[in-house]
Amino acid sequence: MLIDLQEISSGAHLRRAARSVRVVYKDKVVVVGGNAPVVIQSMTNTDTADVIATAIQIKELARAGSELVRITVNNPEAAAAVPAIRDQLDLMGVDVPLVGDFHYNGHTLLKDFPDCAKALSKYRINPGNVGQGAKRDTQFAQMIEMACRYDKPVRIGVNWGSLDQALLARIMDENSNRAEPLSAQSVMYQALITSAIESAHRAEELGLAADKIILSCKVSGVQDLIAVYREIGKHCDYPLHLGLTEAGMGSKGIVASTAALSVLLQEGIGDTIRISLTPEPGGDRCREVFVAQEILQTMGLRKFMPMVIACPGCGRTTSTVFQELADNIQSYLREQMPTWKLAYPGVESMNVAVMGCIVNGPGESKHANIGISLPGTGESPAAPVFIDGVKAMTLRGENIAKDFQQIVLDYVHSHYAPTA
Ligand code: SF4
Repeated sequence: MLIDLQEISSGAHLRRAARSVRVVYKDKVVVVGGNAPVVIQSMTNTDTADVIATAIQIKELARAGSELVRITVNNPEAAAAVPAIRDQLDLMGVDVPLVGDFHYNGHTLLKDFPDCAKALSKYRINPGNVGQGAKRDTQFAQMIEMACRYDKPVRIGVNWGSLDQALLARIMDENSNRAEPLSAQSVMYQALITSAIESAHRAEELGLAADKIILSCKVSGVQDLIAVYREIGKHCDYPLHLGLTEAGMGSKGIVASTAALSVLLQEGIGDTIRISLTPEPGGDRCREVFVAQEILQTMGLRKFMPMVIACPGCGRTTSTVFQELADNIQSYLREQMPTWKLAYPGVESMNVAVMGCIVNGPGESKHANIGISLPGTGESPAAPVFIDGVKAMTLRGENIAKDFQQIVLDYVHSHYAPTA
């Protein structure tokens, strides 16, 4: 042996100690922070004033697995619609807590639309967008007063693009008086962190309990986000909401979000996440929820749905059969999960392997709960199926996809149905 045999550990660091904040709607309680699992959030992109379209999208996001859904409350029409959206969700049997996203006029909207203030389960306040000069403190205080009055938690959400300019100027002044001034980048980080923590302390002075406060400091650069959250995590015990703001479209948005969030989550930083993807025109808003789930599940932090292990394919399997089967089974599992997760507890731990040829196919399939090794180019046209490591049958012919689905379904029935 070139290397001594030794224990090699894996897994994320212990979570950073944070208070737990309860986000409540009727009997539904979503805990953020403490020892609670990392919570997934999403945000609608409908016009909030359009009650039906917004309620439908919230339902879709909740069904996909979003545990909190944020809606913008940007004008009186939107504020007036919020109670009707909540009623519509009640009619549809959707109890996901709603978070109201407020900017500029939140103090007025929460005061003028008390039913909106009550229907929301949490308020997001951006300290950079509550007003200028003396109005800033008054309007921030008015929003905190509403949170206290209606017993709602808040997220104090600072954003790189709307940083409090007065505070930034103050920190720049302080920096220029230092014997050794910090870099412009460090000043910016400091300003973001200070804005969040000072606002949280101000909210506590105004009477909001510390366990009603969640913080975020969103930026759009991966290294910036990691630096800012590592630092803010050292200075407070409020739960932290993670998200790379304006992550972008398609694979770039997914990769950038995953790169940033996985480093922080691995270090135990982050109590709730949102993936800010720009959807393609006509794209599915739920994709941001699936990406969030996949980040947490592939890191071993939570389990949401059976994982499909599939090889990338190569010149040994030139037909598209194996790609189609991997896609087919992935879609099938996703479609079934809303029902299965209620009927078959534990099914989210199942692994399914779809492999392209004999090189790694049988080996990888044996490691999965159910695995299929499709024939590569020139191999005999037969697909052995392995169940819990043992070859159980061989599929042939045109109906391999349907037959394989049935095998998966039978496995779920026989292994995850609750015992009497
Ligand atoms: S399992 Fe076969 S088809 Fe898949 S990547 Fe490996 S060699 Fe290629």
